[in-house]
Amino acid sequence: MIPVEAALERILARVGVLGDEQVPLARALHRVLAESVVSDLDLPPWPNSSMDGYALRGADTRRASAPAPVRLTIAGRVAAGHVALRALGGGEAFRIFTGGPLPEGADSVIPQENVSVDGGAIVVSHPVKTGDFVRPRGEDMRAGEGVLERGRLLGPAELGLLAGLGRSQVRVIRRPRVGILSTGDEIVDLGWRPGPGQISNSNTYTLMAQIYEAGGDPISLGVAADRLEDIETRLRWGLDCDLLISSAGVSVGEHDFVKAALERLGAEQHLWLVDMRPGKPIAFATIPSASKRALPVFALPGNPVSAMVTFELFARPALLRLGGHARLQRPVVRARADAHIANPGKRRGYLRVTLSVGEDGGYRARLTGDQSSGILRSMVAADGLAVVPGDTTVEAGGTVPVILLREVR
Ligand code: AMP
Ligand code: MG
Repeated sequence: MIPVEAALERILARVGVLGDEQVPLARALHRVLAESVVSDLDLPPWPNSSMDGYALRGADTRRASAPAPVRLTIAGRVAAGHVALRALGGGEAFRIFTGGPLPEGADSVIPQENVSVDGGAIVVSHPVKTGDFVRPRGEDMRAGEGVLERGRLLGPAELGLLAGLGRSQVRVIRRPRVGILSTGDEIVDLGWRPGPGQISNSNTYTLMAQIYEAGGDPISLGVAADRLEDIETRLRWGLDCDLLISSAGVSVGEHDFVKAALERLGAEQHLWLVDMRPGKPIAFATIPSASKRALPVFALPGNPVSAMVTFELFARPALLRLGGHARLQRPVVRARADAHIANPGKRRGYLRVTLSVGEDGGYRARLTGDQSSGILRSMVAADGLAVVPGDTTVEAGGTVPVILLREVR
């Protein structure tokens, strides 16, 4: 049995970032940037007003005061999207609106609420500082400046910045295609009523969702019977994927054929049995290929919670790596145990907990109930996985690290 961290290290050493593709900007949310973006223009491209008011020369107002205000003739008008027809001269003000380009000759703006209008002139009763309410050219970014680096996750602000640069297309890392195979004579897929001794396939659907959440495109390879040929055939269907994930049939029972099928495909096994619960039987292998890089394969255990938790700890980071993400791990928070959290087994426990936020703003953790690896209900209730060493009990009031699986509401 190898420790979780060592197992993950072995896995990540064999997984590289995929190639890239061009996508329309409007489709790029949550994708990973594959290029480094350098601004090719100054933004804003010209000085402009940050207020509705009047553009003027600061120097013209140097001596303005309440008892001796300065009058400036309103000699022009610039709305956003338009330009002044001529330069502003001494003793003049131009009506200007937010986003309007500052006319040549002007250097400042006075907001409309700070002046009074008297016929064709504004009356200014205090000095206006040069540069007031003007957004200078290049204030946001300058031509030649690096603004986004490769590997950056694209969120709304990044997309806005790219749009600001006029980019309608962007290069992003390809979405990993992930083949999923469920195995087991007892498993029937959706659409079939389970007969005697049979149960519905749930692993394909939890895994598809987990893959999707981690930025991959899941492809179901169906359900294989506990027969070497069937498992091998279906795995072959997925050989053009970027990652393969099977569940069940990977223990040491007489009906466990996944590892044998992988051997038939020429896979090199790098890992088998990890010191964790739920989950211990998990294999990681790579299938060499003449035409592309070796294909990573996870053979996850069959119990629904074991499959989900081993996906979380091993397949998810690998998938994120393929997809070019810089951050591969979920956040880990420290939580105070509401009641004791016991891990009676020898293996390191990843225990399902619900989290709440206490009055002091800190997290509180409570076990979701029975921790047996077949109980999906307790996964439904779980906000996180408390990490507890073997043979250890965290007493009520003690703190425990928790892997955050979702936002706590
Ligand atoms: P195994 O790893 O083949 O020994 O399977 C362990 C347990 O997980 C058994 O009780 C299986 O019935 C169950 N199981 C395996 N595959 C699935 C699946 N796709 N959906 C739901 N349960 C499964
Ligand atoms: Mg089985």
